[in-house]
Formats: sequence, C-alpha cells, structure tokens
Amino acid sequence: MSEQQRRDGIAQALAAVDERIARACAAAGRSRAEVRLLAVTKTFPATDAALLTDLGQTDLAENRDQEAGAKAAEVRALRPQVRPRWHMVGRLQRNKARSVVRWADEVQSVDSVRLADALAKALHAANQAGERSGPLDVLIQASLDDDPSRGGCPLARLGELADHVAGLDGLRLRGVMAVAPLGADPAEAFARLAGAAGDLRRDHPEAVELSAGMSGDLEAAIAHGSTCVRVGTALLGARGLASP
Ligand SMILES: *Cc1c(COP(=O)(O)O)cnc(C)c1O
Repeated sequence: MSEQQRRDGIAQALAAVDERIARACAAAGRSRAEVRLLAVTKTFPATDAALLTDLGQTDLAENRDQEAGAKAAEVRALRPQVRPRWHMVGRLQRNKARSVVRWADEVQSVDSVRLADALAKALHAANQAGERSGPLDVLIQASLDDDPSRGGCPLARLGELADHVAGLDGLRLRGVMAVAPLGADPAEAFARLAGAAGDLRRDHPEAVELSAGMSGDLEAAIAHGSTCVRVGTALLGARGLASP
C-alpha cells in the first residue's frame, strides 16, 4: 500500500470514528466537545502515528513502554514540527517508571500506591536531568472485573489511591480509566465506573477525566459519561497477535 492510500484509509476511519462519537454524544444529550479521542497506535508503525498527526489527531496512546519510547522518538524525527501528546494506557511495572516519564505526557494506568510512588520519583529524576519538564498527568485505572491479571485498582480502594496520588509532588490527578470486562455487558460495567468516578470527584474535583470506551464499546462508554475514548482497531485496523 502506498503512503497516500494509507493516509486516505486512516482519514476515512478517523472521520467514521468521529461520527460515531458525535452520534453517541447527541444520543446522550452531551456536547461533542466533552469527549476527546485517543488514537491507540500500539503495534502500528511510527509512520501511521505521523499520518494521524497530519490529520490533526495529536493525542496518541501506547500500552508498552519499550515500543512507545522508540515510536515517540521516530515520530519526533518524522514530524519535528508537531508535538503529539503521548498517553500510556497499558500495565506498567515499577522498574519502567523511569523510562515511561521520558516519553509519556500522561499515564492512565496507575493502579497502586507503589507504582504512583515510583512514577513520582522517576519524574523528579527526569526533571532534574532535563529529560522533560512539568508535571505528569495521571489517571487511576479502576478494575471492573477484580481480575488482578488485567490490572486496575478495585473500586472499593479507589478513594485511598486517589488521596495518595493527589499528595505526590509532580503528579497531577486527572481522573479515572477503565477497560470493560471481557464477555460481560459493558454498559453495566461503565455505569458502576461512573458511580465510582463521581464519588471520587467529591473529594478530588480536579479528577474530571473518565477514560472509558474502545473500538467496540465507545457508545456505551459515552452514554455513561466517558470524556476520553481510546480507539485502536477502528482507526488503524486489526492488530496481529503480538499485543493484546
Ligand atoms: C489496545 C487498547 C485500546 C484500544 O482497543 P481497540 O479495541 O483496538 O480500540 C484501548 N485501551 C487500552 C488500555 C488498550 O490496551
């Protein structure tokens, strides 16, 4: 496929996703401006990420540190004039914190006190070393299925973790993220998530973001208050088996 064909294909997919978001917002009586789109570029090449930025899509998300760090550097080389905002949405081990803060503007997958502490420490070191500047936006990942292997903080402990994150230097608590459980009704899960996010906002009014909804369930997420949908497949096509 030529670059022009790929560009046209991504442009069409982006327009279709935007239309889905607009319809879902209208159906929920919400303004389109309340919902932002993160393009999940995992497993796709830096050239695709660069094409997305050409089309005005500068919020990009990745789920693995190693792949993302390299891709962010490649996109910077391909499009030195644009400054995408990179979001980490995947499971993150503490020993990757120092690397993640070099490329990520926001980490949506903070699910433990230990990880939050590691990110705060890594951020401080990176700021000192001149590798980045400014605070790190953070979302707390909530678990909707209480399956520890899929990551996320149990809803009952969200408040505790939010209090901790809010007290850390350099980390800016922005909200809550979740992935719908496998094989269950996403609407029911997103309704529970919305309730928990609303409770959390009473103590942390700055935590306005609710990151929920992917290619298959963005309508249900928007109906339940999502402010941020994370879309990969519907924009870039099916992924191989390398990355879930
Ligand atoms: C891969 C991924 C997405 C995007 O999923 P699609 O179904 O391809 O849209 C969203 N969120 C997270 C956390 C992901 O890992």
